[in-house]
Amino acid sequence: LAEALQVNRELASRDELTGLINRRAMQDLMGLEHRRSVRSGRPMLLAQLDIDHFKPINDTHGHATGDRALQAFASTVRDSVRDTDVLARWGGEEFVLMLSDTQPEDARELLERIRRAVAAMAIPHATGTLHMTVSMGLALHLPGDTVEHTLERADQALYTAKALGRNRVVVAPSGHRPAAVHSGTNARA
Ligand code: GH3
Ligand code: MG
Ligand code: MG
Repeated sequence: LAEALQVNRELASRDELTGLINRRAMQDLMGLEHRRSVRSGRPMLLAQLDIDHFKPINDTHGHATGDRALQAFASTVRDSVRDTDVLARWGGEEFVLMLSDTQPEDARELLERIRRAVAAMAIPHATGTLHMTVSMGLALHLPGDTVEHTLERADQALYTAKALGRNRVVVAPSGHRPAAVHSGTNARA
């Protein structure tokens, strides 16, 4: 029974198409890592990834090919990161990556590596091969902040990456805190 429950729990936390952790489970994992980083002072980084111009892939090659592209994307990104990094399907063609064992100054290069690996993919389809690119926004989680706010900063950086022409990594400025934190406890470390 314990084994069956474990399998069930495992299935409930996975995205069926890509096999990645789903949004719900990722929210739990980010909460855990947040608490761990508060205790240990270990940096935690969150990135939002969004495949560029994905809709035309579906429109041109069909939904089934789009699904295969999502699966290929997921395994390429997973192969580019460490086992301790967590990649989740956030929804549609959007993904969240949590880095818990990477120094902030190394994170951009890691994402650049992912970006290049994705751009180098060639997905076979009925009449040729398909290519895609990804845009990313990266934010360093500040232990005194909320995971939600860090994700928001990563999302803003992603938006900037899209606006600058896509297929790029943008790092969110760190240092500012949300306006709504209670005063007195938001002194900078
Ligand atoms: P942008 O560069 O601005 O991100 O453009 P985009 O086309 O990637 O963004 P948009 O949000 O317009 O389109 C996302 C598309 O992703 C639309 C939706 O049909 C497709 N999509 C979402 N989930 C799935 C899925 O599970 N399978 C397939 N095949 N397509 C999906
Ligand atoms: Mg999107
Ligand atoms: Mg997109």
